[in-house]
Amino acid sequence: MSIDFDTIVNLAKKRGFVFQSSEIYGGLRSAYDYGPLGVELLRNVKEQWWHSMVRMRDDVVGIDSAIIQSPSVWEASGHLASFTDPLVECTNCNNRFREDKLDDPDQCPSCGKRGTFTEAKNFNLMFKTHMGPVESPDNAVYLRPETAQGIFINFENVRRTSRMKLPFGIAQIGKSFRNEITPGQFVFRTREFEQMEMEFFCRPEEADEWFEYWIEERKRWYVDLGMSEDNVRFREHDQDELSHYSAGTFDVDYRFPWGFDELEGIANRTDFDLKAHMERSGKDLTYFDQESGERFVPYVIEPAAGATRTTFAFLLDAYDQEEVRGDTRTVLRLDKRLSPIKVAVLPLSKKPQLTEISTRLAQDLRPLFPVEHDVTQAIGRRYRRQDEIGTPYCVTVDFDTLDDQAVTVRDRDTMDQDRVSMDKVAAYLRDRLG
Ligand code: ATP
Repeated sequence: MSIDFDTIVNLAKKRGFVFQSSEIYGGLRSAYDYGPLGVELLRNVKEQWWHSMVRMRDDVVGIDSAIIQSPSVWEASGHLASFTDPLVECTNCNNRFREDKLDDPDQCPSCGKRGTFTEAKNFNLMFKTHMGPVESPDNAVYLRPETAQGIFINFENVRRTSRMKLPFGIAQIGKSFRNEITPGQFVFRTREFEQMEMEFFCRPEEADEWFEYWIEERKRWYVDLGMSEDNVRFREHDQDELSHYSAGTFDVDYRFPWGFDELEGIANRTDFDLKAHMERSGKDLTYFDQESGERFVPYVIEPAAGATRTTFAFLLDAYDQEEVRGDTRTVLRLDKRLSPIKVAVLPLSKKPQLTEISTRLAQDLRPLFPVEHDVTQAIGRRYRRQDEIGTPYCVTVDFDTLDDQAVTVRDRDTMDQDRVSMDKVAAYLRDRLG
């Protein structure tokens, strides 16, 4: 179903997925904190990416590089010179905008005046700080605006130590920082965010083939994790949209409440980055192919996704409402692998005969799945809460449990209930949750 923006933002706040950062101080614009459920969902998204991109493959390995790197990295990569967005300012209301994201390049979206924009200036998006106790131009450093460069500068380290042969990839998940001119739309565009990037190194003549391969692989990932195919779109960049390093880019777009917008960019970065680092560092980053005896600089295909943005898209995509016996039920139909809580254990009443059993059962299940043990409120309200946070299974301990040593397992999607013997409930859930 299509869902309006405020509904999902309210749900995210009410249930503890995402909070405004520094809320008790009035909030810091465009910064967000992930709450108890949000951190689990975000971790699950990252884990699924790592699982498919690294663990399941013998041609990709991972790294975790520093956020603050030598400024030479950003000089070589071109970020210092050209990682810019066109900034315009309205001379009437003094608000600033990114020119390429304006609906009408002549009209201020804030005050509505026409013809009030200044000439566009190139604004560099990197956050600058200083390393060490003295602030001087000599010790200026930058927070990384992408995780990719940490991979390129480690290309030779990884190749040598892991004995990787082309084609092979290096993956990384981590924080990136961009001083965006117009952050907004909740966690869609923030100044601090997480990326999931993989650089796949290959022979230049095989780059087109691998480009196609990774487009298909990445598409499969989203759909396999339950994202509705109608809501995902692939769009090839026009020539004038291409980044300074790219010979071709495909965007994976998601149908957000404001329209299709980018989740991931898959780019053919050619040999741009390795060559740039070779020139700047003077180090040899060529690859020697033992079989053919050739030495060359590999090409790179890069699927670059946003973890925080993708988490938001999965939340939107999972949101559903249905009528059940005259009531409206809200349910997050998250893929079970993404659900923050997999099993809720609910005693029918707070009576100690039941809570003793439910406490023990929850404890027994905890080593296997993320479990929530919830004893407050009427059972109907507790089911509603679990539906709203996407918990696939609720296990209810009732008064019959005292006699038959069995519990009721309720399925989130079908609402079917199975009576399952307590000694079999772990196996029952494992069969269904994997
Ligand atoms: P945009 O055009 O939206 O500014 P981009 O094309 O510059 O994004 P890339 O450099 O390709 O983005 O980064 C890869 C991914 O990182 C994006 O597809 C997006 O998911 C994520 N990302 C980039 N900038 C942000 C941001 N400010 N907030 C959240 N996620 C971001």
